[in-house]
Amino acid sequence: MLEEIQVTKALNKIKATSRITLPYRWDLNIYRGCGHGCNYCYAMYSHNYLEKKEKYSSAGEENCAFFRRVYVKNNIVEALEKQLGARNWKKEVINIGGVCDSYQPAEAKYGLMREVLALMIEYKNPVIISTKSDLILRDHELLGELAELTCVNVAVTVTTTDEKLSTLLEPLASSPEKRFSLLRVFKDTAAVTGLHMMPILPFLTDSPENLEKILSLAAECKVDYALPGVLYLRGETRKHFFNFLELNFPKLLDPYRKLYSKGGADRTYKAELYGVLKPLMEKYHMSGDYMKPMKTKFLRPRQLKLTDFLE
Ligand code: SF4
Repeated sequence: MLEEIQVTKALNKIKATSRITLPYRWDLNIYRGCGHGCNYCYAMYSHNYLEKKEKYSSAGEENCAFFRRVYVKNNIVEALEKQLGARNWKKEVINIGGVCDSYQPAEAKYGLMREVLALMIEYKNPVIISTKSDLILRDHELLGELAELTCVNVAVTVTTTDEKLSTLLEPLASSPEKRFSLLRVFKDTAAVTGLHMMPILPFLTDSPENLEKILSLAAECKVDYALPGVLYLRGETRKHFFNFLELNFPKLLDPYRKLYSKGGADRTYKAELYGVLKPLMEKYHMSGDYMKPMKTKFLRPRQLKLTDFLE
């Protein structure tokens, strides 16, 4: 179910505490809720959280289901233009879709990303976008144009190369194969491309074979970096994921209870996992540095094209 709402601000400043490891300070979420339905979704908390942070003209139902009720911020473009056009705006990097995938099914209907990207082009504003949908290919030209003007980072999130498992885990996202193909397509633009290999799910997607397959495909796509991360389980996500396990992988309930006595996975598990990942990252010459390729592109002069001489 889609519900249109109005916002007073488009950009959300990320709290200082959660900024420590992030290369950006601003988030832009066009939608609230996400129709991809990933059973490990870290953002389920945000339906309640955003309710307190933003004032909507339409009173939303409390505790609505993150996957089933998606709010569409239909005045986001006007709100964004005000913020980008403000005298004190310093063209900081904006992370588009930090809480909800901007290319989720609702975007096929509303097409708001096209208008958002047109504004980013007008204001030459750097952006980071990560998605699990090949709908982003619709905006290939716009993103290519923006990448000629400023820094653009296009990343895809992949958890497994097993199509069946992916359908179970991420029912309405594009197949892993399609996600890799879109990375290949964006290589013809000046955008930085990356692989977000997260969350890695213990006993489901953490086999060395799966990790290696993902990294080898990312290397074939010539991504600029790969960012792995282990599943974190708290609040709504924890409840939902344990229900998912009970239904689909009941034998994993006890091992998960042991591994996740807190929000993060057990330390020994993480140390072992990173012990497997490190040599694989080295084998495929994969940088784990999120920001380096972006900084490099910021400093690199734009390559001249034939059209520059014809004007
Ligand atoms: S794509 Fe991201 S925001 Fe959407 S359901 Fe999946 S994990 Fe959540």
